[in-house]
Order: sequence, then structure tokens, then C-alpha cells
Amino acid sequence: MAGKALVVAEVKGGALRQVALEAITAGRRFEPSEVIAVLLGAGGLDEPAAALGRRGADRIVIVEHESLGAYTPDAYLQALLQVVEREAPEVIVFGHTAIGRDVAPRLAARLGAGMVSDAVDVRSEGGEVRIVRPIYAGKAFEVRTFTDRPAVLSIRPNNLPLPDEAAGRTAPVERLAVDLKDLRSIVREVVKKTAQGVDLAEARVVVAGGRGTKGEEGFRLLRELADVLGGAVGASRGACDAGYADYALQIGQTGKVVTPDLYIAAGISGAIQHLAGMSGSKVIVAINKDPEAPIFQVADYGIVGDLFEVVPILIEEFKKV
Ligand code: FAD
Repeated sequence: MAGKALVVAEVKGGALRQVALEAITAGRRFEPSEVIAVLLGAGGLDEPAAALGRRGADRIVIVEHESLGAYTPDAYLQALLQVVEREAPEVIVFGHTAIGRDVAPRLAARLGAGMVSDAVDVRSEGGEVRIVRPIYAGKAFEVRTFTDRPAVLSIRPNNLPLPDEAAGRTAPVERLAVDLKDLRSIVREVVKKTAQGVDLAEARVVVAGGRGTKGEEGFRLLRELADVLGGAVGASRGACDAGYADYALQIGQTGKVVTPDLYIAAGISGAIQHLAGMSGSKVIVAINKDPEAPIFQVADYGIVGDLFEVVPILIEEFKKV
């Protein structure tokens, strides 16, 4: 490809999201003339810009505006349209995050561009870039190619490798002033529902609980195990519906999609809608009282037992490592 690739790099809590770096890898696979990363926000973007430079972006565009501090679709869309107008990229890559899911299709529609969402691989085959994405709730994969440009792509976190980091590497940083007009919404306040340290979507280890946790006590145990492993806590919809866990933690077809290195499912039956959100995990460990539970069909390791007995043992053992 002769043209440019534009990576929309997301920042969360002042730090670059890991998927922004994976998006650089995705953009690079189109063999563009240049990978440009764009950062949107209200300020504090210099450190994320430096990180993008160390990880292989060829150029960074910082767009700072008071209305870009918290995400709103119209402010982000207007800002991105102005970046696209200036840079005329052939491919635009987003992370398949809450923001990416929302703004990428809007941008594609405004550009009249083709879009592929939730890609788990981007590879070059026979001179063509092929994009792999799960379908039928993760039961199958389809391979797509773009026949036209510009093209818009969103990638699922934790699937593509990170570009190598070169400690002294820097990339030119430019600032683009944008004109945001007639904004239909502004964010006055962001109220965080969960306060866990590790981002569930990008966590390397996820410890998830289902209805079998029977309540807060079960989730307290799971949080302890997640802390020992440096991971995040997730939940099935069964657990969320029962009020044991917040919906922000729900994993599955109608929740978050996670692909950690290690997924521990405790007291989760393994309904198809749950598997849609976690079956791409590299190693799956299931703890369930019922040896016939469907979760054991996707598990690499299965422990048939009561989670209230098994999890404390795991906590003690992992503490020793
Ligand atoms: P259950 O199915 O009740 O399973 C509990 C399990 O815990 C059982 O296997 C039991 O053997 C085990 N258990 C009980 N006690 C213990 C113990 N002490 N120790 C060990 N094991 C124990 N679900 C999702 O998770 N995510 C989604 O995004 C989602 N989206 C949906 C969308 C739609 C349109 C629909 C219709 C459903 C969706 N569901 C989703 C719901 C899904 O079908 C299941 O109902 C749900 O996943 C069940 O949750 P669970 O496994 O926690 O509960």
C-alpha cells in the first residue's frame, strides 16, 4: 500500500492503552508509507505521544481541545474528520474498545468507507491484506479484505503483538488545532462504577465468577485470587443479574470480550453467550462442582470441586510462587 495508515490511539487515566500499540502493528501490516498515530484529549498527551514514538509510530498528531477530555461521539467524530481531511489516510485503525466501537462506524459512514470490526488478526497473503474476525459468537472465523480505500478497522485488544520498543526512538509530534462546532452533548461528570486497578479488557489474567459464587463472599475470594495473580475480576451475566457483581464486569456476547493469557472461570456453567466473550483466552481453567458443566468443554484445565474450597487453596499456592 502506498498510502498512510492512521492509528487512533486511546488514552485512559493519562496512560496510553495497550491496544493503541497493537493498532500500530495492525496498521503496519498494510505496509503503508507511514503510520501516523493521533491522540485526542484535553491535555496531558505528551507522555503517551513519546510512548507511541518509542513503539514505532512514524509521526504523532496531538489534537487537544477542552471538549475532547471525556468522550462524546460528535466531538470525537468532528476532530477525527479534520485529521482525516488533513492526512488523507488509506487505512484507519481503532482499538475495539467502548470508544472505538462507537466512533469507528460513525467515521466509516461519514467517509463512505468500508469497515471491519473486532479483528483478531491482520495478515498479508498473496499480496492482499486479510482480516480475521470471529462470527457466530466466536464459533467460527471469517476472513475479509478491503476492496476500496479509505478503509476503517477496529481490532480486539490482546490479539496482535506489540511493536518492539526502542528506548531512544522518537517520532515527530505535531499539534492540530480543531474547530468543534455545535456540539450536541458535553460530559459534565464521569462517575466510575468499579475501581479495580487492572483494565478488564486488557488484563493478562482474568478471574471470573458466576452464579456459583453465591454472592459477595465468593467474589471477595475471586478478587483476592486476581490480586495475587495481578489480574482483573470478571463475571458472568448470571452473577450480574443476581446482583453479585457489577454489569461493568460482565463478560460475554452482551458484555466485554476478553482474551487474556489465563482465564479462570469459577462457578460459571459455560453458556454459549458467556463463551462468546472469553473462548479466545489462551489458557482456560474452569472450577465447577458439576463435572458435566459445558465450561469443561472449552477448558484447558478443569477442576471439579467447590470453589469455596478450591480458590483458597489456589490463593495460598500462588502466594508461594
Ligand atoms: P449458571 O448457568 O446458573 O451456572 C452456575 C454454575 O456454577 C453451575 O455450572 C454450577 O454447577 C456451578 N456452581 C454452583 N455452585 C458452585 C460451587 N460452590 N463451586 C463451583 N461451582 C459451582 N451470559 C454471560 O455470561 N454473558 C453474556 O454476555 C450473556 N449474554 C446473553 C445474551 C442473551 C441474548 C441471552 C439470552 C443470554 C445471555 N447470557 C449471557 C446468559 C447466559 O445464557 C447464561 O444464563 C449465563 O451465562 C449463566 O451464568 P452462570 O454460568 O453464572 O450461571
